[in-house]
Amino acid sequence: MAKYENLVTRFLKYVKTETRSNEDSTTIPSTQTQVEFIKELANELKGLGLQNVHISDESGYVFATLPSNLEDDANTKVVGFISHVDTADFNAHNVQPQIVENYDGESDIKLDEAGNFVLTTAEFPNLKNYKGHDLITTDGSTLLGADDKSGVAEIMSAMEYLQAHPEIKHGEIKVGFGPDEEIGTGADNFNVEDFGADIAYTVDGGPLGELEYETFNAAQAKLTFKGKDVHTGTAKNVMVNAIQLAINYQNSLPADEVPEKTEGREGFFHLFKFDGSVEEAHTTYIIRDHDRKHFEERKQLMLDIAERMNTELGEERVVIDLQDQYYNMREVLEKDMTAVDIAKEAMEDLGITPEIYPVRGGTDGSKISFMGLPTPNLFAGGENMHGRYEYVSTQVMEKATDVILEIVKLLAK
Ligand SMILES: [Zn+2]
Repeated sequence: MAKYENLVTRFLKYVKTETRSNEDSTTIPSTQTQVEFIKELANELKGLGLQNVHISDESGYVFATLPSNLEDDANTKVVGFISHVDTADFNAHNVQPQIVENYDGESDIKLDEAGNFVLTTAEFPNLKNYKGHDLITTDGSTLLGADDKSGVAEIMSAMEYLQAHPEIKHGEIKVGFGPDEEIGTGADNFNVEDFGADIAYTVDGGPLGELEYETFNAAQAKLTFKGKDVHTGTAKNVMVNAIQLAINYQNSLPADEVPEKTEGREGFFHLFKFDGSVEEAHTTYIIRDHDRKHFEERKQLMLDIAERMNTELGEERVVIDLQDQYYNMREVLEKDMTAVDIAKEAMEDLGITPEIYPVRGGTDGSKISFMGLPTPNLFAGGENMHGRYEYVSTQVMEKATDVILEIVKLLAK
């Protein structure tokens, strides 16, 4: 019998529950399906005997406490584990997970009966890492939702295991399951004080060994270009074409500093929305850089280009609205590396090689770390997230659960 007997059934049940978030919604959580699912998780936490289980009106998160079983826990850090319940912007209706037992590490996996969607080792060479594993895939019509229901299932199963094994000594543990990570707002109202942990982890990473404590610094810029539309026959020296202004602006940015031409720690400007007419045009950019100084320089450049164009045009035709989104959590973590060091040690104890790379994105932990709670990210197991080719190994989910327990044990030492 598997070490965590309910881990897989729990995961399969979670992924069949539709909990997609919605960027256009103004409610928190952004969708009612997340509200319902978080209520179910609250009941499950209560059923496992966790205490002070409560759902925050402000953030939509459910928080719970597993009390310490140490005689003296005065010097033991309170550790928190966090996952998000929403799934990405891809069909999540009627998820039908398929299980491929004891995968041979080389065969292609047909997702749907007709074979329209196939996981091939040519296209997804990571499959070769899973020889002998039991893989959970989609049926080709939806995403899987291992991001991040694998994290939810792992944390829940770790708590269940601790309740069944009181001989494992641990300090106080906090659990948090929240909404809307995929639309970037989930952690905005996270209440660090209410959560009550000294260090925390999001369990929201990818393959075995992932340990992340460096993310992008991130901002978004919305630009409006104001033109002047007149008849084309009499346009000379009168017409101002807003679309052309938007193009000129884009052409003033460094052409090579875009997502499709950068990797590692290279930052970028990314134009991802463009609409307009001669009268008015709109563009939206995201700005990303791991280095805070370069990040600030990128934002300044965007402001400078707008200002220069306005000066040349003789009036304010370019309006820029620039907003910071999140910052590189490394800035916070570097001051106290305990959370990272403990996670590394836990993985090494279990024979897992920690894979530490800068994330070319953000995590809920980026925001939570800047609220004062250092929160690196641990692997949860998923591959090819956010689409129909998503899959997860049940053995890696077990390892992720092992890591949670090992962290808890190390902190109690
Ligand atoms: Zn995620």
